[in-house]
Amino acid sequence: MGYKKPSFIEGIAEKLGIIPNLHKEGYQDFDNDMRHFTDEEVAQMYENFPPPEKWDNWVEYNPKVWPKKEKKTYQIVPTTCFNCESACGLTAFIDKETQEVKKFEGNPYHPGSRGRNCAKGPATINQITDPDRILFPLKRKGKRGDGEWERVTWDDALDTIAARIRKAIKENRQNEIAYHVGRPGHEKFMNWILQGWGIDGHNSHTNICSSGARFGYNLWYGYDRPSPDHAEAKFILLVSAHLESGHYFNPHAQRIIEGKMKGAKLATMDPRLSNTASMSDYWLPSYPGTEAAVLLAMALYILQNNLYNRAYLENWTNWQEYLKARHSEKEVTFENYIAAMIDEYKEFTPEYAEKESGVKAEMIREIAQKIGEAGERFASHNWRAAGASNLGGWAVARCLHFLTALTGAVGAKGGTSPNSWNKFSPTQPNKPKPQKFWNELHFPKEYPLAFFEMSQLLPHFLKEGRGKMDVYFSRVFNPVWTYPDGFTWMEMFADESKFGLHTALTPTWNETAFYADFVLPMGLASERHDLNSYATHGGTWVAFRQPVLREAARRNGKPVEFTYQANPGEVWEEDEFWIELSWRIDPDGSMGIRKTFESPYRPGEKITIDEYYQYIFERVKGLPEKAKADGFTGQFAALEYMKKYGAFEIEKGESYKKNETPLTQEELKGTKVDKVTNVITKDGNAIGVMVNGKAVVGFPTPSRKNEFYSQTMVDWKWPEYATPKYIKSHIHNDNLDKSKGEYVLVPTFRLPTLIHSRSGNAKWLVEISNRNPIWMHPDDAAKWNFKTGDLVKMNTDIGYFIDKVWVTQSMKPGVVACSHHIGRWRRPQDKIGNRWATNTVNIEGDGKGGWKMNTISGIKPFESHDKDSKRIFWKDGGVHQNITHAVHPDPISGMHCWHQRVRIEKPKQGENYGDIFVDTNKSHEIYKEWMAMTRPAPGPNGERRPLWFNRAFTPDKSPGGCYYISNDEK
Ligand code: SF4
Repeated sequence: MGYKKPSFIEGIAEKLGIIPNLHKEGYQDFDNDMRHFTDEEVAQMYENFPPPEKWDNWVEYNPKVWPKKEKKTYQIVPTTCFNCESACGLTAFIDKETQEVKKFEGNPYHPGSRGRNCAKGPATINQITDPDRILFPLKRKGKRGDGEWERVTWDDALDTIAARIRKAIKENRQNEIAYHVGRPGHEKFMNWILQGWGIDGHNSHTNICSSGARFGYNLWYGYDRPSPDHAEAKFILLVSAHLESGHYFNPHAQRIIEGKMKGAKLATMDPRLSNTASMSDYWLPSYPGTEAAVLLAMALYILQNNLYNRAYLENWTNWQEYLKARHSEKEVTFENYIAAMIDEYKEFTPEYAEKESGVKAEMIREIAQKIGEAGERFASHNWRAAGASNLGGWAVARCLHFLTALTGAVGAKGGTSPNSWNKFSPTQPNKPKPQKFWNELHFPKEYPLAFFEMSQLLPHFLKEGRGKMDVYFSRVFNPVWTYPDGFTWMEMFADESKFGLHTALTPTWNETAFYADFVLPMGLASERHDLNSYATHGGTWVAFRQPVLREAARRNGKPVEFTYQANPGEVWEEDEFWIELSWRIDPDGSMGIRKTFESPYRPGEKITIDEYYQYIFERVKGLPEKAKADGFTGQFAALEYMKKYGAFEIEKGESYKKNETPLTQEELKGTKVDKVTNVITKDGNAIGVMVNGKAVVGFPTPSRKNEFYSQTMVDWKWPEYATPKYIKSHIHNDNLDKSKGEYVLVPTFRLPTLIHSRSGNAKWLVEISNRNPIWMHPDDAAKWNFKTGDLVKMNTDIGYFIDKVWVTQSMKPGVVACSHHIGRWRRPQDKIGNRWATNTVNIEGDGKGGWKMNTISGIKPFESHDKDSKRIFWKDGGVHQNITHAVHPDPISGMHCWHQRVRIEKPKQGENYGDIFVDTNKSHEIYKEWMAMTRPAPGPNGERRPLWFNRAFTPDKSPGGCYYISNDEK
């Protein structure tokens, strides 16, 4: 590169002293100046992350004082990112002098993310230095929701909460204790806690997130998520925006691009020209909710053109069961199976799919041909997107997996594996027994097949008196803002007879924490312990999230007992909090709770955080050996390895075709083989299947195969969905009245720089993305005479919100969209929080279910220790749309169906940007309408739920126990 002459402007600026004189003689000649290196050498340097042997003493120049050359010495400690579910590796650079974290970079030793992050990873530094963060435990003063708080000690909080839980358990009110989680993690930690308490107290956010797709996958093969092997694929089909968002998107994006670089073609189905669609070889802008029709048209094409994988279909789908159940008049032959499928889907011609979806028939044929040609090397993904948006959205994942089964790509190299094949599961100390309770506030009888807890309906259940929450924890969970129908949540939170004691465990203020009794500050990515393992590719890894200042203190010979002693203020972490709480619930061990949380190494004493993780890590295949080889010795060697590197690769990318794993001689002892189905059972449980004369493990379904035909759907009163079907969505064109200005609103997409309500405390991210206008095609805008920036009133079924229009060709005509991560708010009485992202709003209720919100002021610069807070230039904090949505629980999967029927109009005089109105009476009526579509339990033998379906925090399944509805309850 060498010496560079100043440009004309630079020359003047240097002379006037506006910038330092970078071109004075000799300035660029100092040792190690980057200008001495070639481009190739510079590239090499950036690829070479600081070597681990220098992590305790890493010297760099301080970029902030450039062009002065000031050396800084850092300690580098790995952890994992907490800003989305990918759990990419991070490394914290800790200033050795001040013991402050100065920046975050990637961790090249993390097998999923391989040193790379999206913008949200490094922005963790914004979050830990946010001037508005909560630093101490707080307890409310005055009325709940009035905004007054006082500081308390951790002991105060723990003792109060523990006493209330103890009382509830002793009074047999176990089902009044619940833990409700937004961002999970922990890998079974909370199973250990809640099952240790013996309660059915877990509630998740999954029914507003991914349970639709999970249900569709599960019906096929007993696993609820896909793990596409993008890097080895020949054709990739995404029903999502997976290059920019979605589960594991950064690790997946890396591998999608690798696949493309090796020649794979990429197709994306999305009504919006997302960044992902724009990088694709094919964009299929399907009308929302019609994706399954397009996929079935591709399936028909593959069947009609003999592009299917005969051996796979014959060996690994339950075709005999299908023919016997649905075509008993026909001989059970493979040819009849193919003919029957062609007949079953004959209406799904590409032309029919075009009529439904708007995607050209020619493109459907071309892609189907390419998928058939890719064969086993067909990778695909549907996460939230269509699966999370439509009545029957779960059928999209089911129809997508149909293509995977037809091509034989299930679990193949370059195909799509079940995620569990690529995910580590920990072995925990003192594993508690399954709880003997079934909490109907989480899994009510109306939703026996719901894949996760019906969390979005909790406030409606409470409203109609089905129960109460005496002790309720919200953990990194913000339903008032993130969920549909937030005003109903607010009504219930404000009522102490519905939510007795509400504890918000959160790193930052949020709209739900305003309605808590305790707000307890929990650590961000670099301030807590946690385990992560996700299906990012064909291998398996485990990563360790750790509090980096605690680890630095340990390395520097100043260990602390609890994480809050090393974190800023008194910010703690859940792991230690839950262990402490558990001991205080059962201080003398008489309730049988304490024993789960005793040390596996020091009988009768409280387990430490190091012991908990050491117990797990010393049982990870290959980790103790690796730790030893790396020079770690002693009782905590495996843990020390993880503290040093932050991640471990358990299995490299060869986890294919695990269904073909032979059963061992030991496993086969005492087994029986069913003469009709070939299923192998032991002690009444299916453990495998005979395929081509070999005893193999198969899949965890009743047939141990991919279930094209689902007897489970028949047994649970949905025979019309026994095979993959296209279900017309609640926002199908037939259900909209265009003459009244009705449109479908797509509210589900994520801006790549934001995550729900977790990025409002990251200034860099909010600077990039701070508005959420309505995306509208120019043809629609012309119809309404809208131009970019005009106000638009979006009338939902329960109210309205007023936003601005963004006219863009990136939207399919006839469809409008709005990103859901913006529109954060606080009321004047609330504690100041997230000022980078929050509008100040006024909320008024009429006492009869009518609620109005309007914006008092947008985002403003403010004084703080961070000089950037005075430099805020954006004013518009966007509009909160989810609060105007009614609940739409899919009657089968339980997934909230996010797409909204909206009536578009121009606002009236006096109506302003950001105005919101909702009638919670209407939202309760709509809740009842959707409930009326369900077909309640019991199923066969009085079961509440199919026994073979997984359930998070599975209760005791003993016959006659809580998994069965008693005669009194029927
Ligand atoms: S992809 Fe997710 S986990 Fe990875 S750096 Fe970005 S926000 Fe963090």
